[in-house]
Amino acid sequence: MRSVTILGATGSVGRSTLDLIERNRERFEIVALTARRDIDGLIELATRFQPRRAVIGDEAHLLRLRDALAGTDVEAVGGEGAIVEAAAMGADWMMAAIVGTAGLRPVMRALESGQIVALANKEALVSAGALMTEAARRHGATLLPVDSEHNAIFQCLHADRLETVRRIVLTASGGPFRSWPLERIRTATPAEAVAHPNWSMGAKISVDSATLMNKGLELIEAFHLFPVGVERLEVVVHPQSIVHSLVEYVDGSLLAQLGPPDMRVPIAYTLAWPERMETPCQRLDLAAAGRLDFEAPDLGRFPALALAKAALAEGGAKPAILNAANEIAVASFLECRIGFLDIATLVGEVLAGYAPGAPGSIDAVLEIDREARRAATDLIGKFAH
Ligand code: NDP
Ligand code: MG
Repeated sequence: MRSVTILGATGSVGRSTLDLIERNRERFEIVALTARRDIDGLIELATRFQPRRAVIGDEAHLLRLRDALAGTDVEAVGGEGAIVEAAAMGADWMMAAIVGTAGLRPVMRALESGQIVALANKEALVSAGALMTEAARRHGATLLPVDSEHNAIFQCLHADRLETVRRIVLTASGGPFRSWPLERIRTATPAEAVAHPNWSMGAKISVDSATLMNKGLELIEAFHLFPVGVERLEVVVHPQSIVHSLVEYVDGSLLAQLGPPDMRVPIAYTLAWPERMETPCQRLDLAAAGRLDFEAPDLGRFPALALAKAALAEGGAKPAILNAANEIAVASFLECRIGFLDIATLVGEVLAGYAPGAPGSIDAVLEIDREARRAATDLIGKFAH
């Protein structure tokens, strides 16, 4: 029996995690489920799964949560602080599936309490990677990557023999605009950007896949998870999303993890780790898939990837700035306030604007994050159309 907490339970990754748990109910005890404002979703999940605690981030919904759960054994609490507390309730395993920098404090808290943290919240590693990995080491916590590429690398990597790794290759689907000419990409709408060819995901990460910023954030994530050095990290476009990433060793062997494009596969790997568990995912039919294509990413049409590479190379606060500016740019694009290509331009301008030193604490990361968001918001007017 493993006790589990799921932060961001109402989201895409959170619900996939609960789907697997529901199919293996006898193996898991649920400690806490959290959401921000999807009160109906949280009430439904808390009623169905009976966690010890249900947490709503937005306190305006707390009364409704209390009413709905009155008479059950589920404790209803609310507020940002309550989400951080939920991360340290002593579960054996925690899924960090909050989107954005809101995940930083809870993830840090879970690492400090020495648990197994299944990390989907990539922003935690992008903005505060050095602090997070150091906290995991200091407190004996285990970080299991959920992001499909990093989960693939984790499965292929002999972590105790990093000196035998020649390079790590992250695959990118290329997103919905992979073969679109630049002029058509310029007028892409939010609906087109969110329509990912292979994966069904939350809106923000879907837009990031369309700009290739997602792959840039993942390069930074990989840099912290697998310390082989930035020069040994590469990206290749693989439109079928069947090979989820690869590790090349010094003898020329390349190990890859293949699977259907279903997040329940990497999530199951972390849920059962170090064992494996069955999933209901469609099995990969190689003969039906027929072929695997690979191509180099086009940094001209997808400049976000180059921006992320530069931010990683510069280090310090740059990755946190990149992430924050990108969140503002993506939200503005989704609200139709800026165009698709403006996302990368805006992020580039914010990055060029200033360069604070490397943050030494989560508070410092969040301050840099706020500052970069302000800078990005100030620039939106310039792009508004
Ligand atoms: P969703 O937008 O579907 O879900 C986000 C979850 O986080 C929801 O439960 C949401 O609650 C909660 N949340 C959002 N903002 C806050 C906040 N400020 N405070 C507390 N909780 C909050 O996202 P995804 O599931 O797609 O992604 C989650 C994370 O996993 C992201 O970091 C993403 O990059 C990463 N990831 C996702 C993949 C995918 O396939 N979806 C693949 C790889 C990584 P509410 O519903 O109430 O708003
Ligand atoms: Mg990914």
